[in-house]
Amino acid sequence: MANAYDVVVIGAGTGGYVAAIRAAQLGMRVAVVEKQKALGGTCLIWGCIPTKALLEHAHALKVIQNAKEWGVTIPAGPPVIDMGQVHARKDKVVNGLTKGIEFLFKKNKIDWIKGTARLSGQGGVEVFEGDKQTLDAREIVVATGSAPRSVPGIEIDRKRIITSDEAIHLKELPKSLVIMGSGAVGVEFASIFRRFGSEVTIIELLPRLVPVEDEAVSAELEKSFKKQGIKSLTGTKVTKAAVTGKGVDLEAQTPDGKTQKLSAEILLVATGRGPVTTGLGAEDLGLEMEKGYVKVDQMYRTSAPRISAIGDVITLGGPGHPQLAHVSSAEGVIVAERLAGKEVQPLNYEHVPGCTYCDPEIGSVGITEAEAKKRGYDVQIGAFPFGVLGRAKMAGETEGFVKIVVDKKYDEVLGVHMIGPRSTELVAEAVLALRLECTAEELIRTIHAHPTFSEAVAEAAHATHGAAIHM
Ligand SMILES: Cc1cc2nc3c(=O)[nH]c(=O)nc-3n(C[C@H](O)[C@H](O)[C@H](O)COP(=O)(O)OP(=O)(O)OC[C@H]3O[C@@H](n4cnc5c(N)ncnc54)[C@H](O)[C@@H]3O)c2cc1C
Repeated sequence: MANAYDVVVIGAGTGGYVAAIRAAQLGMRVAVVEKQKALGGTCLIWGCIPTKALLEHAHALKVIQNAKEWGVTIPAGPPVIDMGQVHARKDKVVNGLTKGIEFLFKKNKIDWIKGTARLSGQGGVEVFEGDKQTLDAREIVVATGSAPRSVPGIEIDRKRIITSDEAIHLKELPKSLVIMGSGAVGVEFASIFRRFGSEVTIIELLPRLVPVEDEAVSAELEKSFKKQGIKSLTGTKVTKAAVTGKGVDLEAQTPDGKTQKLSAEILLVATGRGPVTTGLGAEDLGLEMEKGYVKVDQMYRTSAPRISAIGDVITLGGPGHPQLAHVSSAEGVIVAERLAGKEVQPLNYEHVPGCTYCDPEIGSVGITEAEAKKRGYDVQIGAFPFGVLGRAKMAGETEGFVKIVVDKKYDEVLGVHMIGPRSTELVAEAVLALRLECTAEELIRTIHAHPTFSEAVAEAAHATHGAAIHM
């Protein structure tokens, strides 16, 4: 049958398209239903890729702003950002990558069915918008991802009160911007727009910025943001947001119970993302759900036979499932290999790196110092500042540190938390260290090239033994 497949994947984000490619590599006949005009989902179209492209623009501006330090003379006046060119370049990057996935689909003989799909029971996937048809699937993988969500009382009008989906396309630089939420999305946009020249205030309900990170990292980021002129209001709750002719008037309750009034041209709501399952028919088929997420087991099996689910749309029960591109892709590979009959191991979610591309960057993996203590470990900490590192001095990027959390009993590395230059790259070594259950001693004995940023990791490992060389 022309429309009979071994695997039909619904959604071509980093979960779905990776699952499809891996399944095709393993010899299965695969179709992917995707409703957007391009492949790649949130990561490629509105998320990881366009935000990091904008951050590269912000970085370019930072270097030019500091031209004098580099011995470069730029005649007359401060440099300004050309938003038209910024978006043109960003769009070129995004288009190149989405087209790249189209190429990979062709290479792997994966059919892209353009449309919106729902589960129709007994192995059927009905494409009810776009290329309408019913697909017959031996196995189905739901990878419908997530979308921004607001908080009660704050209505998103997509003009003045916006989400990251609109922020990524802002053609005009707002004079002032209030950001609600200081997770990765919130602090990345804070870095972008502050560097471009907006007045930025970030409001976080919890007592510190980037609340999932180690406390020392949060403190360092707040210090750096202050220096850059980003105002942080932590422990503060936005209670009202009203659109006016010129922007948004806000009221927020500060930790002392007082009401603070603020106004800005734009309010960016970055308070998290919720699952996309509307119209999917998951409930009709009796799939077990939890708070709107599709519930799966460690092998991404839903409660219905022959239906798996991966990525931002799932919950494994218990603590929050990380909504990250690399997590969805790792799950995509596992599910495809399981469906092909290969033996697969469950993911260890404590070994998932978290990267936040604000300025300065954050990279972390494993448990924080506070969590290690809560779990009863006798904790040994080693930290090393980038400020004394030769390579960081050369780059003129001396903020931040690498901090390693070690279990004193076995010298095992439990967590690595860094903020500073290249942290989102340096964390890869830490991920491997955790995966291989490394000791601090093993990190110390691993030779790190000189002069590199990675020496900060080695020095922090030395510091856990009270023996940092350059400090
Ligand atoms: C601003 C921002 C920055 C981010 N930065 C990073 C980062 O730097 N690093 C990182 O790891 N993560 C980042 N993320 C998170 C990352 O983008 C997501 O975790 C990842 O995209 C999830 O992949 P997914 O495949 O589960 O879902 P998605 O990427 O959301 O893909 C789901 C796809 O399914 C399609 N779809 C939904 N329903 C249907 C249907 N019924 N029929 C057909 N198609 C359907 C959608 O159109 C979409 O293309 C960022 C997110 C945002 C918003």
